[in-house]
Amino acid sequence: PYKGPLADEVLEKRKKYLGPSLFYYYQKPLNIVEGKMQYLYDESGRRYLDAFAGIVTVSCGHCHPDILDAITEQNKLLQHATTIYLHHAIADFAEALASKMPGNLKVVFFVNSGTEANELAMLMARLYSGNLGMIALRNAYHGGSSNTIGLTALNTWKYPIPQGEIHHVLNPNPYRGVFGSDARHYAEDVQDHIDHGTSGKVAGFIAETIQGVGGAVELAPGYLKLVYDMVHKAGGVCIADEVQTGFGRTGSHYWGFETQGIVPDIVTMAKGIGNGLPLGAVVTTPEIASVLAQKIQFNTFGGNPVCSAGGLAVLRVLDKEQRQKHSAEVGSHMIQRLNDLQKKHDIIGDVRGRGLMVGVELVTDRKEKTPAKAETGVLFEKLRELGVLVGKGGLQGNVFRIKPPMCFTKDDADFLVDALDYAMSKL
Ligand code: PMP
Repeated sequence: PYKGPLADEVLEKRKKYLGPSLFYYYQKPLNIVEGKMQYLYDESGRRYLDAFAGIVTVSCGHCHPDILDAITEQNKLLQHATTIYLHHAIADFAEALASKMPGNLKVVFFVNSGTEANELAMLMARLYSGNLGMIALRNAYHGGSSNTIGLTALNTWKYPIPQGEIHHVLNPNPYRGVFGSDARHYAEDVQDHIDHGTSGKVAGFIAETIQGVGGAVELAPGYLKLVYDMVHKAGGVCIADEVQTGFGRTGSHYWGFETQGIVPDIVTMAKGIGNGLPLGAVVTTPEIASVLAQKIQFNTFGGNPVCSAGGLAVLRVLDKEQRQKHSAEVGSHMIQRLNDLQKKHDIIGDVRGRGLMVGVELVTDRKEKTPAKAETGVLFEKLRELGVLVGKGGLQGNVFRIKPPMCFTKDDADFLVDALDYAMSKL
């Protein structure tokens, strides 16, 4: 049994020594002390079904034995030396990652987070195109550093600092967007920005292929194809942010962008790539990558031996355990059950997503789509009481984000949906 500090003590210390901008889930925050595959354990030993995976990060499962072994072996041999020396782990990992990419996306840069990945992608877009303006979607999250905060279009995260030339276009959100699922009309807004809001030239366009923090919003079908053509004509490069959607989570495809039938110029990734290790990557073409060769680009921890060994183990586990196929099967079962639940409870306005990247949007009035903000909060606490941890998101905080470790089973999905059903019937 756990013998460490309890929640109250941890919270007090956290308040005293950590920044005031930290936030936590639940009125009485959980003190999580152990994790095993799709389960988390609190200080009292109580088990929770984890349907949020440390914010869509623990792709293979908490403390997955194969990944632990790979990290431990590398830890014992060499933890760190940087890329000023050779080491096989970073090269092996880059080779394995590149083999997962389509087209000419063959050059890998390793960084430590999603924010850093998007910073680097934006830098390359600007250098390669010779332009500055970036186009991003409303309701997007791309990071919290000075530059990426500009790309992010969720008010909660936007500190008032200069954010460069960023154009936020209409979000092609099939549920709430003004044009429903009509990709063409949303794409016209992009052309409109290029024609009237820029010099006619842009550095690039960035989008998540299913918006994560924004509440599992899948872009209107066909949207990216139309927009990529427009951006290329305006001299820009197209970046796919796969920080949440990559590595088979969507079930139907290994990468989220494949669901829109396009090949980006730059792909950024983090979170699930390391199953919990601080790891991010940018993959692009040799031509685009070459713009960085005019100077030295260096990252102390990027691709460090321990993270690379762990990341390579993640790719192998995902293949060995056929997690993409599994996500498709468990995800479609869960979505079907959630669709049935929607017929029973009026509060469910929308069920959406793919594979194990699912959103449930709650409304008090289906016609007006009034966000059920307070009710979402009540249900969220109730789910925790029942032993189920989900995420919360969307502009109004009225969307449940269900993005579990990919070892999540059909039984787990049933338990989650039954718990939601029970909680809703008690509202
Ligand atoms: N892009 C997306 C789509 C994300 O969801 C996040 C994190 N929520 C980021 C980028 C930034 O990643 P990190 O927190 O690792 O910097």
